[in-house]
Parts: sequence; C-alpha cells; structure tokens
Amino acid sequence: MSSTRSASEVEPHKIFDTILTLDFGSQYTHLITRRLRELNVYSEMLPCTQKLADLDWTPKGIILSGGPYSVYEDGAPHVDPAYFELGVPILGICYGLQEIAYRISKDNVIAGTAREYGHADLKAKKIDHGHVDRLFEGLENDMKVWMSHGDKLAALPAGFHTIATTQNSEYAAIAHESQHIYGLQFHPEVTHTENGIQLLKNFAVGICGASTNWTMAKFVDQEIARIRTLVGEKGQVLGAVSGGVDSTVAAKLMHEAIGDRFHAVLVNNGVMRLNECEQVRKTLTENLGINLIVADASEQFLDGLAGLDEPEAKRKFIGGKFIDVFEAEAKKIEDAAANSDKAGKIEFFLQGTLYPDVIESISFKGPSATIKTHHNVGGLPKRMTEGQGLKLIEPLRELFKDEVRQLGRELGISHELVMRHPFPGPGIAIRVLGEVTRERVEMARQADNIFISMIREAGLYDNIGQAFAAIDPSRAVGVMGDKRMYGNIVILRAVQTTDFMTAIAYPFENEFLSRVSTRIINEVHGVCRVVYDYTSKPPGTIELE
Ligand code: GLN
Repeated sequence: MSSTRSASEVEPHKIFDTILTLDFGSQYTHLITRRLRELNVYSEMLPCTQKLADLDWTPKGIILSGGPYSVYEDGAPHVDPAYFELGVPILGICYGLQEIAYRISKDNVIAGTAREYGHADLKAKKIDHGHVDRLFEGLENDMKVWMSHGDKLAALPAGFHTIATTQNSEYAAIAHESQHIYGLQFHPEVTHTENGIQLLKNFAVGICGASTNWTMAKFVDQEIARIRTLVGEKGQVLGAVSGGVDSTVAAKLMHEAIGDRFHAVLVNNGVMRLNECEQVRKTLTENLGINLIVADASEQFLDGLAGLDEPEAKRKFIGGKFIDVFEAEAKKIEDAAANSDKAGKIEFFLQGTLYPDVIESISFKGPSATIKTHHNVGGLPKRMTEGQGLKLIEPLRELFKDEVRQLGRELGISHELVMRHPFPGPGIAIRVLGEVTRERVEMARQADNIFISMIREAGLYDNIGQAFAAIDPSRAVGVMGDKRMYGNIVILRAVQTTDFMTAIAYPFENEFLSRVSTRIINEVHGVCRVVYDYTSKPPGTIELE
C-alpha cells in the first residue's frame, strides 16, 4: 500500500526535536513514546533493526527499549553500533541497559539467580559533592521503581559508574563517565515507577536538550501546510466518515486545509444508533462546515442482513456492501469533479490511521517474524488505492488516541464528540446477537438509547470506555400486567479501559442498574428481562460478537 510520506515532505521528526525509541520487542515500548509526548517532547518508535544510515533525520536522543531476549542468546537483536558514534545521548532501559553493557564486553551480562518482577526501592547515589546524577535531578528521595528482568549486569561496564542502586541491584542505574550514555535496569515508562516521567524528562529535556514544543496547536499548523503542499492547488480528496472521533477529526483537518475540495461520505447502513445519521450530518455540516454527502442505503443493508445470524457473515456482508455503496458515491463525486473547472480530479483517499496501528505494524517481533504490513478493516482503502488508483492520505498517522482528542479540541470539535465512545463499523448488527431483523435492531436501538442517556445524565459517560445494549438470541418468560409474556433479553455492557486491550466491567451502583432495567422494560416493547455483563477482557471481548 502506498504511504502518505515521501522524502520531499515535511515530516514531524524533521520539524520537532525528536527522541528516537528503538524497539527491542518490549510490551512497554510504545509507553516510552507516549510519556515523552505527554511531556510535549516529540518521539517516534522504530524497530531495533533500523540502521542509522537509513534514517534521513537526526534524533536529539536515543532510547533503547526493553525486550524479551537475553543479549547473550543466539539470534538476540543488537543495535546498529553507528548510533554510538552519533554523539547524541543514549538511554538503555532493561534490555537496552544490558545491550549497552554487552557491546562493551560479552562477560558483562549473565542470567541472574533470582528473577526480579515488581517493585524495588531505588536510591539515587550522591556522587558529585553530594549531588545525584543529572538523570535523577529532583529524585533525591528513595523512589519505588518497577522491575521485570531475569538477566543482570555481572560487572560495571568499562568507563561507567553506578548512579542508583536497589537492595538487589548494585547496577540499577549506570552512566558513562564522559559520554551521555545511561542505562536503567527498571522501567521508568510504566506508571508503577513513581516519578518515572520526571526521569524521562531529565533525559529528554535536561540531557538531550529536546524542546518541549510538541503541542497540538503546532501540529495543526504544520499538518495543514503539509496537506496543502501534498494535495496541491486543485487536487481533491475523498474520505469516509462515521461520526466517530478519528474520522471526524481527520475530516475537519482536511476541511481546514483544502475546504470543499475534501469530500466526506457518510453511509447510512441501517444499523446506526437512534437518530445517529441525522445527528452526524448536522454536526459535520452545520457545526463543522464539512462538505458531506449522506448515502442512505439503510434499506439495502437491512434487506441483505435479514436472516444472517453468524457474526462473521454479518461483518462480511456489511463490509462488502459498504464498499459498494461508497464506491458508487465516489463515482458520482468523481464525475462531478471531472466536469468542474474549479478543481482537479480526485487523487487522494483519506484514511484515519493512528499511531498505534503504525506501531503494531513495525514493532519488533523477533528475527524470524516477518514484519506485518498494516491492513485496514473492511478493505475500503485497498479498493480505493489499488482499485481506483487513489493515493492514501493519513493525517493522524503520527498520533495516539488522546492526541487525536486534543487535536479535535484544537479544531473546535465539541467535548461530547471528542469523548465519544467507539462504535463498531457493523454497528447494531453485531449487538443484535444471532438473527438480524428490523424489529430486533429497533429494540436494541431503543434500549441502547435509554442506557446511554442515563449514563450521561448520571455524569458517568467520560469514565466509561465503551457502553451499549445488546439483544440476546434467547427469550425469557415474564409477567407483565398480569399477563404471561415470552419476551426478549437485553444485555447491558459497559467497560472501563485505557487502551481497549484489557478492560473491566464498569462497577455501577445496583440502584442505577435497577433504574435502567425498569426504564428499558417499561419503554421498549418486547423486552421482559435486562441483564448486566460482568465479564472482563480478557477473557471476554468488548463487543459480544
Ligand atoms: N530479557 C531480559 C531480562 O530478562 C530483559 C528484560 C526486559 O527488558 N524487561 O533480563
């Protein structure tokens, strides 16, 4: 798939002082990048196999991450030695520390007798006239740090000295005598390490001298300029929007950059939430001024879904139909564009790829694992790029989700929209478990609307990662108005999560859930039971299908 970045373009790492994080496969590597950005220092992650000679920019500092290998093992990854000649500060974390020690002498790293997972009390050493090393500035008191290692340094590498210790680790932190090379046995990037962020700040800002200018306000200006150059004076861009945070923010950014030469298409697939299509249309056009076309294909979708009950079959049908409808709309826009003298032909397709997708596709998975190329759900980008010959444009490619939200605020998008819970592409079709019928979609929609509005009224919406109501395929017996009823079961699900990789059920008060249950049973015709799903993820997933 073609990328949006070409050498001639102005990429963030060429504008902002950038700390390069080389990934040795730790599950925490992305957190290093995130923490630095929280400090307004721009950081990018690349796999540990990245050669310095292949970089066309110069980092302000380098961090070597942790990793599952042992440095002395056959096939363990090793960093390109050229980074050590670059003269910029280097910080090794866990595996990174071991790598620094190992390249000096292979005897420096051995398997420890006791593995060390969890907390340790760290003491920064007073070295220079009672002062701690610059890396520990402001961290003079004992601090709790988080360890996760089996190997350890057998000896201090030549040219280094110890700058902090724990009871078990004589070399918990080391520094080179004359060069800016540091190593930590613990993980400053995880929140279990107290004040870990201060330590990263001391490295990035204090030692590397990186400026703290990574703000969304600056990013907006830079990205708008980049889009304008890329698209040119007359070029046009096409994109799908759903009303979700990412597609809305990306669309607004395109609109700011090229106005009506950006065409957004919203496909009504018949399984959106109550009044959602109309609300999204209103917000995007009236509030945000985006050039939007709504393709109402709800009847086609609902007809095609009738009788489908297998989750994959539903997803496949919706994904395929979506592409057909989108393509037909795109064709109309392209034809109109071809006849206009104000603008050129449509050359680009907007895609709301985020940095975690990029990280996922480039993170180091070991020498035998081939690096996975990024693929997008639904196949639409592929169809538009390979099939229609459009080029991808991905303005959110460098951003984490919370940065996308900040960017949205910066662009004047409402708090409500910016904080909106994710909603799956196949929508309510996968929340009506089993067979999809118009009647059951309507039931799920009404129940969901009651649940979500009560969550909002209770002021809980922003504390919850995702919440929804689903309809169970079984039915249950109840008595309503003295009459036996054989009705439907509504399943409520709400989860608390930071990254959607793991989640726990939201701990509502019983009284709240009772009120929701009563309202749903009273107001949604055909429902006689309401249950709450307490499953965490794992083993559950967030959606039910
Ligand atoms: N695998 C190495 C060890 O066990 C490094 C671990 C890490 O980087 N967290 O010591």
